[in-house]
Amino acid sequence: MDTKKKNIKESSIQDALFEIGGELAYKLYKVLKGKENVDELIIADKLKISLNSLRNLIYKFDQYNLLSSTRKKDRKKGWYIYYFTLNQRYIEDLIVKLKDEKIKKLEKKLEREELHEFYKCVNKCIRMNIENAMETNFMCPECGSLLELEDQEKNIIKLKKSIEELKA
Ligand SMILES: [Zn+2]
Repeated sequence: MDTKKKNIKESSIQDALFEIGGELAYKLYKVLKGKENVDELIIADKLKISLNSLRNLIYKFDQYNLLSSTRKKDRKKGWYIYYFTLNQRYIEDLIVKLKDEKIKKLEKKLEREELHEFYKCVNKCIRMNIENAMETNFMCPECGSLLELEDQEKNIIKLKKSIEELKA
């Protein structure tokens, strides 16, 4: 099971899991890592959260197929207890998917920057497109200062750099 993850960095896993469910998601990962059919009661206990909170977290993992589960009826109590196993190989898919989403978002932002001019207040209260700037006669609605055409070159370079880094 562990041989497949050799080329995934732990920090990438951590980042991706933080994104889907914060620190708890990474804790859940650590509890399940390398084990099979872990009792939900034990997981909730280790994470120090209620079963309801655990189920919310499980739901987030399920959306990316990160878990498989079985359930068994507790004969004494009469209810079902769930047991979870991490789908290690889907973690890589999650990382790729989140990265793709991020790249797409940045590319859209870049496109917007390249296609439109923006005006901003000299006091940095606000940033608006030309239509909105015309409506306020190029005055900041917050502080009354004049709006000036933003030099977008820096933003564009920054965005391009971020996109390149993500693609690398
Ligand atoms: Zn202002």
